[in-house]
Amino acid sequence: MKTTVTSLEGSRQGLFVNGEFLAPKSCVYLPSYDPTTAEPWYEFAQGDAADVDAAVRSAKAAFLAPAWRRLTQTERGKLLRRLGELVLENADELAMIECCDNGKLLKEMRAQMRAIPDSYLYFAGMADKLLGETIPVNKLDQLNFNLREPIGVVGMIIPWNSPLMMLTGTLAPCLAIGNTIVVKPSEHATASSLALAELAIEAGIPPGVVNVVTGDGATTGEALARHAGIAKYVFTGSTFTGRKIAGNAAQNLVPCQMELGGKSPHVVFSDVDIDRAVNGVVSGVFAAAGQTCVAGSRCFVERPVYDRFVEALVERTRRIKVGHPQIEETDIGPVALAAQLAKVEDYVASGVRQGARIAVGGRKPQDRELARGWYFEPTVMVEANNDMRFMREEIFGPVVGIVPFNTEAEMIRLANDTEYGLASGIWTKDIDRAMRFAREIDAGTVWINTYAPPPTCPPMVA
Ligand code: NAD
Repeated sequence: MKTTVTSLEGSRQGLFVNGEFLAPKSCVYLPSYDPTTAEPWYEFAQGDAADVDAAVRSAKAAFLAPAWRRLTQTERGKLLRRLGELVLENADELAMIECCDNGKLLKEMRAQMRAIPDSYLYFAGMADKLLGETIPVNKLDQLNFNLREPIGVVGMIIPWNSPLMMLTGTLAPCLAIGNTIVVKPSEHATASSLALAELAIEAGIPPGVVNVVTGDGATTGEALARHAGIAKYVFTGSTFTGRKIAGNAAQNLVPCQMELGGKSPHVVFSDVDIDRAVNGVVSGVFAAAGQTCVAGSRCFVERPVYDRFVEALVERTRRIKVGHPQIEETDIGPVALAAQLAKVEDYVASGVRQGARIAVGGRKPQDRELARGWYFEPTVMVEANNDMRFMREEIFGPVVGIVPFNTEAEMIRLANDTEYGLASGIWTKDIDRAMRFAREIDAGTVWINTYAPPPTCPPMVA
């Protein structure tokens, strides 16, 4: 791999178009900050509408070129498998790039780097198993069938919290069927997408099939979301941005696939082993400093064990080690950007104003070693209710609000009282109750007696 942490440090990285790095037409570069020091560590190109246009044209040309279009499904699968192997071979370097760019824990990235190559292998195997159907039409002299075909150039816009994982989850299936791609990574974590695009070339994927345009949302993102050459958008990010992208895509009558935010309920019944449930709640909300879309940030606890649960949770949270993301003993690293830290502080303050109490955390760590970075202590808020702003809006930081409930019906009502529907979790020994919860909760994912198992959230069992 040509892009390494040492080659990036203090350097400038261009846009990746048609298999090579290009300077942006504007000649503007933006700093990428190391969240542990709040200092820039490398610069990436600010792509404008002309750069986005060049990337889309490159992807369109690659889509039509025989080097990609005339490959058999099996040949595409082999290229994807090779890409997976190269990701595995370069796992340590890719993990470090992500740690420097967005403050991810090195041990979380190591876990992700074991899972990510498997995704390429999975979709490599799927490339030659995408079947069409025959459709009976009540006519003896006609055969009616459908074929699965690539759609064209896919615009992928991804967030900063786990860029390699987010990108892989959509890039691998897109390539498996033969699409070509223009990726717009977040301006807060660009480096790993560029490194992955280089690996795609090394794997033998033709130039122009994977292009990366870096830059901010307002300029680069908007230009991609408005470009008439995109056949479909795949967006992962906030609900706010998702609405804008869907609105722009609608102008071109182009479909969008959206993976958006969450305010997920995590429910604890009194029949469970409290220590296990506490560890589940801690990992489920504080992993990656709370910067996971599935973070179980609203915790509902059955009244008979509420006091005992809160006491154990507070004690456990006090033992969480906030520290440098590359130190093995660290449980929580920094949040990825200054604006995110300010947002977390604002939500905690608003919770207090509305009557919640900080049971533990609620501030930047006092450790002088961490003073320069964007760190925030894991925070448990009690005396909370579901109507408080910090309980309704996605914080995307290490903050959980705890609310007691008396009956199953009350819990379901509270858990479903949200505009989100991404994930949920329940701790109970009663399998009937767990299955009722799975049916009645309005959430795309339901975890029973676990929550977001690794690599999404590394366990924090002390
Ligand atoms: P964001 O919505 O601010 O940004 C996501 C991407 O959109 C970035 O690349 C950004 O530059 C781009 N963007 C911003 N404005 C744009 C515009 N007007 N047009 C086009 N692109 C634009 O999200 P974020 O802060 O980077 O990430 C955090 C969010 O992502 C959280 O809401 C989190 O829940 C969500 N997320 C969801 C999943 C999931 O699978 N559901 C996974 C990870 C993160």
